[in-house]
Amino acid sequence: MTEQYGNVTVMGIEFTNTTLEGFVDSTIRPCLEQDGKCFIVTANPEIVIAARDHPDFMETVQSADHVLPDGIGIINAAKMMGTPLQERVSGIDVMREMLAHAEEKGYSAYFLGAKEEANRKAVERAKRRFPKLQIAGRHHGYADLDDEAFVEDIAATKPDIIFVALGMMKQEQWIRRHMDRFDSGVFMGVGGSFDVLSGEAKRAPDIWIRFQLEWLYRLLKQPKRIFRVLKVAQFMMLHVPVINRIMRIFGYTKTKARGKG
Ligand code: UDP
Repeated sequence: MTEQYGNVTVMGIEFTNTTLEGFVDSTIRPCLEQDGKCFIVTANPEIVIAARDHPDFMETVQSADHVLPDGIGIINAAKMMGTPLQERVSGIDVMREMLAHAEEKGYSAYFLGAKEEANRKAVERAKRRFPKLQIAGRHHGYADLDDEAFVEDIAATKPDIIFVALGMMKQEQWIRRHMDRFDSGVFMGVGGSFDVLSGEAKRAPDIWIRFQLEWLYRLLKQPKRIFRVLKVAQFMMLHVPVINRIMRIFGYTKTKARGKG
């Protein structure tokens, strides 16, 4: 990982300490200009907990070139540890910036994931919003995604940007397994972003985001997310300093902070 901005480690995961604008300017643009390869993970507390519980997934997250803090829980945890991160950098915002940049420079994007309808509409809307964006291709996320021919077909479209919307873990694991097949590209897991972009799901209104209640909005819309919310609650518990210290004494968790940018 680049030390350009400094990293902040939260539960074994090194977060790039950056801003949305800074990240696009200093990482996305150069990577695309130089035909480089870059794997970006946008991690919220659920991802951090999942990585702690699944060593293989932890390896995947740690193999990324950049892990961005996509959740107020991560920002709060970093602050409590005395190593604040500059700001929340959400996957959907990075995706929008990448689309805008791709349209400006004529880069192409591949859209992998979500249900067929959401995938198709997301691409249509992206095309409408960014008319000069090149669509390298698209495919829904309910196929045999590890089939060699399937992956080769995607790589053959030579996308500059590969958005993978398969939900956390699945999307990052897919990128890690298959990015070697591609000559270049910026790879990013985007969770439910195609559902939002397509209009099939709504992002929380600004006021909910401002009061840091986006998680509650999503829970009300999708009550089955309760188990995920419990994971986030578990994460928050680990970052209440007193509880955290007791847990560290018993070797339950490791949180260490490293240099700030
Ligand atoms: N999805 C998919 N294939 C699968 C499982 C999920 O394409 O096998 C899609 C699903 O349709 C949805 C997205 O992955 O568009 C997951 O959205 P969610 O909001 O749950 O993302 P997360 O919060 O897990 O990142």
